[in-house]
Amino acid sequence: MKTTPQRTEIARFLKRARNHPSALEIYGRISQKFPNMSFATVYNNLKMLAEKGRIKTLDLDPQKTRFDPDVSKHHHIICLKCGKIEDIRRKYRIKTAVPKKCRYTALSNTVHFYGICAGCKKKSGRRRTKKTAGGKNK
Ligand SMILES: [Zn+2]
Ligand SMILES: [Zn+2]
Repeated sequence: MKTTPQRTEIARFLKRARNHPSALEIYGRISQKFPNMSFATVYNNLKMLAEKGRIKTLDLDPQKTRFDPDVSKHHHIICLKCGKIEDIRRKYRIKTAVPKKCRYTALSNTVHFYGICAGCKKKSGRRRTKKTAGGKNK
């Protein structure tokens, strides 16, 4: 595949991105350096990088497709409030997870978890106990 400076920049940005960014977020950052690049160009480059196996496409966010530069095997948990995605590195036993009735030999799995992150939990907790959580006086 022919490498363009744009694609190099996208790949470089993704390598440092730890937050599983969406195409729009990536476009926002890349366009600071390449103001003439269109969203379609960024998107097509992302698609190509995914096809080549350089990045992974994540479909657990109902709002938008997200991208992961880490192509090693891992699972994800997404916060339903703020959309933060974190990696989960753990092995789930396929043998016990797939029902016997399903007569497939399962070879791999990807598990998506949905929940509320620590930051959002703290925020909603604070709102509920607003009266008592006044903070320390100096
Ligand atoms: Zn959150
Ligand atoms: Zn990941």
